[in-house]
Amino acid sequence: MTSRDRTPLVCGNWKLHPATIALAETLARDVVAELRSPDAATPPGVEVAVAPPFTALAAVARALAGSSVALSAQNTAAEEKGAFTGEVAPAMLLDAGCALCIVGHSERRQYYGETDAGVSKKRQTLLARGLRPIVCVGEMLADREAGRAIEVVLRQIEGSFDGADAASLTRCVIAYEPVWAIGTGKVAQPEDAQEMHVAIRGRIATKFGEKAATAMRILYGGSVKADNAADLMAEADIDGALVGGASLDAKGFAAIVRAAVRP
Ligand code: PEP
Repeated sequence: MTSRDRTPLVCGNWKLHPATIALAETLARDVVAELRSPDAATPPGVEVAVAPPFTALAAVARALAGSSVALSAQNTAAEEKGAFTGEVAPAMLLDAGCALCIVGHSERRQYYGETDAGVSKKRQTLLARGLRPIVCVGEMLADREAGRAIEVVLRQIEGSFDGADAASLTRCVIAYEPVWAIGTGKVAQPEDAQEMHVAIRGRIATKFGEKAATAMRILYGGSVKADNAADLMAEADIDGALVGGASLDAKGFAAIVRAAVRP
């Protein structure tokens, strides 16, 4: 297996947008329409997903029905059920139509105290319910400036995949998202992102074997836009993108999807 055999994934993380369920449905329909339009047809060989807020999941699932765009959640409970006020369990996400779920996004780590151990637990609970986790990792600016970006990210990989088995890894996706690049307009240089992706893949190979590492999709996230996506996606170990701000514009998002096609 080579990089060409990994199907790129482009996932739009809508975060705390749009403001209403109706607007989320409209955005979902616009994404589907953009990806279907004859002059900009969705290229085969790219998996596409969108991750709306919890309240819009079921409605967006209906808007996506019959399209090839998959539904992702932005977070999950680590527990299956019980007295966990405010949480949403993997089985509920599945019931709402999700196939994927983002875990360990840096905003969850920064603002809600999410830890690698918590991410690992969520990853396992999702897998047990048949959902595919998108596990986010990424260094802070201070880490990069101090020359310890790779060390920090590999520590997150170790913790977030603690106790994982090689067989389950093909159902997991990693998103490398340097924190200083998220929502800032400062995108990583493609060669720096590639260096990190190689390091992550290398650590997966050491822990789980070459086969699992070669099959694993590693996305880049952090200010990906229509005009910088192609350069990032041209790197051999960048297997798609997790897109925040730019995923709220259907046309721009579709352009990023097209840029993810392997030549
Ligand atoms: C994100 O939220 O995962 C993200 C990458 O955001 P943005 O594209 O806006 O930097």
